[in-house]
Amino acid sequence: MENLVNILDSFYPGWKERKYVDRVIAILNKLIIPTYPFLDARIENNRAIFPEEWNQIITALKEAHFFKLFVPPEYGGQKSSEQEIYFMMELLGYASPGLGIIFVSHGRAIDVVLSGSEQQKEEYLPRMAEGEFGAIAITEEKAGSDASAVGLRAQKVGLHYLFNGQKIYISNSGLARIYAILVNTKGVRGPRSLSVFIVENDLAGFSIKGLSEKEGLKILPTGQLLFKDTLVPAKNLIGNEGRGLILTMNVIDRGRIHIAGICCGLAYRIFREIYKYAHRRRQFDHPLTSSQDISFQVSEMFTRINAARGLCLHALRQFSAPYYRISSSQAKLFATQMVMDVASKAQILMGGRGYFKNDLVNQLSSDARGMEYLEGTSNIQKMIIARELLRIYYKEKIV
Ligand SMILES: Cc1cc2nc3c(=O)[nH]c(=O)nc-3n(C[C@H](O)[C@H](O)[C@H](O)COP(=O)(O)OP(=O)(O)OC[C@H]3O[C@@H](n4cnc5c(N)ncnc54)[C@H](O)[C@@H]3O)c2cc1C
Repeated sequence: MENLVNILDSFYPGWKERKYVDRVIAILNKLIIPTYPFLDARIENNRAIFPEEWNQIITALKEAHFFKLFVPPEYGGQKSSEQEIYFMMELLGYASPGLGIIFVSHGRAIDVVLSGSEQQKEEYLPRMAEGEFGAIAITEEKAGSDASAVGLRAQKVGLHYLFNGQKIYISNSGLARIYAILVNTKGVRGPRSLSVFIVENDLAGFSIKGLSEKEGLKILPTGQLLFKDTLVPAKNLIGNEGRGLILTMNVIDRGRIHIAGICCGLAYRIFREIYKYAHRRRQFDHPLTSSQDISFQVSEMFTRINAARGLCLHALRQFSAPYYRISSSQAKLFATQMVMDVASKAQILMGGRGYFKNDLVNQLSSDARGMEYLEGTSNIQKMIIARELLRIYYKEKIV
């Protein structure tokens, strides 16, 4: 962890001297890294259930004002810069990638609320700064990569909208109290039919179910949201009706860099584990690293981790600029492919022990594979990059 902190500090000298950084690193070292191998979540009776160590972690994070880092000061937070939040994502990726995803989803729900009215911001953001979790729900059985196919029906009835339908694979299911939900308010398929609402967990007709066990990211509660004649107040609509897809896509651009940051932190952790192991492990009377093939593999891993970080930091500098979307998709595409490659090479370097479930590199590798699906798969990033390239080409005649 200390090495990663020093690497990150070299990009932003003085960052590690900030007060909250020390407090967060202490929690990562003392409570999160040691419990990573066994902390998991399941969903029962509409709630995410965790082992008791979870409460200690969340209490410590609240006391360190970690939740406040995502919320502007006028709504009870102590908002950090984009770069500092990115660094936190790398640290979480190193310590517990699943916990990192929990905070990415929470952060996206905050971003949705930030696009809402003053009244909505005042209602939800102070609670989120104090530690009430948020979630963002787009995916449905028939609307995965193609979010414009969202069909969860929200029909206007007086001062309410009547929700009927389901969401699937939603991070923070049963943990969040504040859900940002993409729904169809027109009853016909298409991007202009979609709108975003905030729904609280205790609304009548809203229930949460678990799914079968995931391969990795065990601490991340991922479930199904079910709406049956659920009356959602019309005042919970965020922005204008029919603008929901644009709103959520803008929010997700930001999430992509955070997922890419988790990939970099996670890849660095795998790299450290395998580097130590390959020095220790002797075959043919030599450490594994004395083989040129293995030392080259390790060199390539290290180089690609830094290349991915470079793309992320580049994307962060584009924040709000015209090339932000293409940069964040590039960062997510490269970082995801990099971490999956590092993980699969590391598992092979572990030999037979890397094939067993209780092996740390095996567990980290399962988490690495999960990164592919979040905030759009690699093919979807390629589609976005291709579309943006065309737009730039026709608009500015440059690529
Ligand atoms: C652990 C986890 C957490 C998640 N958390 C959330 C969450 O919090 N909120 C949420 O809304 N969703 C969440 N998801 C869902 C995730 O966003 C979707 O799984 C993802 O968008 C892909 O959708 P899909 O699974 O339906 O795959 P599909 O869309 O069916 O795609 C299947 C494959 O086909 C490829 N593909 C699809 N269309 C094309 C095309 N036109 N050209 C080329 N290739 C294509 C895809 O790249 C993919 O490899 C989560 C998923 C997981 C696994």
